[in-house]
Amino acid sequence: MTQPPLGLPPAPGAQPQRGPRFLQLQAPPELAPARDLTVNSMNRPYNFSAGPAAIPAEVLQQAAAEMLDWHGSGMSVMEMSHRGKEFISIYEQAEADLRELLAVPPEFKILFMQGGGLAENAIVPLNLSRAGTVDFVLSGSWSQKSAKEARKYVADAHIAASGEDGKFTALPAPESWQLSRGASYVHICSNETIHGVEFQELPDLKALGCDAPLVVDFSSHVASRPVDWSRVGLAFGGAQKNLGPAGLTLVIVREDLLGHALPACPSAFDYKTVADNQSMYNTPPTWGIYIAGLTFQWIKRQTEGGLTGVAALEARNIAKADLFYQYVDQSSFYVNKVAANCRSRMNIPFFLRDESRNDAFLAGARERGLLQLKGHKSVGGMRASIYNAMPIAGVQALVEYMREFEQRNA
Ligand code: PMP
Repeated sequence: MTQPPLGLPPAPGAQPQRGPRFLQLQAPPELAPARDLTVNSMNRPYNFSAGPAAIPAEVLQQAAAEMLDWHGSGMSVMEMSHRGKEFISIYEQAEADLRELLAVPPEFKILFMQGGGLAENAIVPLNLSRAGTVDFVLSGSWSQKSAKEARKYVADAHIAASGEDGKFTALPAPESWQLSRGASYVHICSNETIHGVEFQELPDLKALGCDAPLVVDFSSHVASRPVDWSRVGLAFGGAQKNLGPAGLTLVIVREDLLGHALPACPSAFDYKTVADNQSMYNTPPTWGIYIAGLTFQWIKRQTEGGLTGVAALEARNIAKADLFYQYVDQSSFYVNKVAANCRSRMNIPFFLRDESRNDAFLAGARERGLLQLKGHKSVGGMRASIYNAMPIAGVQALVEYMREFEQRNA
């Protein structure tokens, strides 16, 4: 008697099947029809989502090819024990590649956690604040959220500077920051995903007369440019913009900051516990680490004008952002309000001067395969997120569409 495909109910009257068929390691042909898993990056739309965001087609393609059977193991990565040799090899390669790509010095630990950027807003003060004073520089929604959350855990979440009066269109100059004496750390968000404001250089706290470690939320521009680790105590970010899928949170922390968690800190979120257990105190986000690992290998393969890796991506990101801002700045139809010295290379909020055309603009964009351009609800207008996975051709296609829309509607 022929067997129904696995997962389908048996034909009426058929005897239940047991035995060898359940021991098959390879999917039977019925389960894996001859389907073309090739992802043709040329045919994919351009996805401008702020996150979860576009992932390089090559990464998706490789993950698809390895979905049922990773490297002959007979298992999908999602089915592997995090303590087995297969997954440990994935984890170790990912960590080593990231350390190389971001030039993370040996005295920093790389932690792969869960919870996302918002959980870090609590986890960082639980680990680093010693319940004392913490300084915040407010440059947009995300740093505002960080300060608000920290108030639950610290004696004083002090606002050292804020760009709120200017509606977060400019960064408060570091020389103007009112830093507290004896603060446990200073928190910044180095790229504000909603307001499109980016630090082009990390502040040098020592030069500002401050000994506190700098904590950086680099969620939305990690791996888009090099990091000056000499200025950083801890950096954290969700993976879902530049590194892979949602569910993985990256923390890179200087060793001397470990071991000072408040008693109320959950063990699974105590950085020292996580570091001592190579991110495996509890089950880490294995799928996220795997896709991030594939993304790190993709980054390593990138070249641009003699540069490789993150440096190549940075050059490409500068070219992409320049192309977009130059077009918007010469247009009287569109506007970007962020000060030139802190415009984000990753997230570009822009507005049609005549906002009554917003819906038509978005509908026309979708028709062209230019997806997810609607601005964040708190800011309105449009937002183009052009992370590492966005090729220059995607920004060219967007600018081309904007030019045509302007000509038709001006
Ligand atoms: N920080 C920044 C800069 C972000 O862009 C985001 C998410 N867009 C977060 C924090 C929050 O991340 P999550 O949703 O993963 O908690």
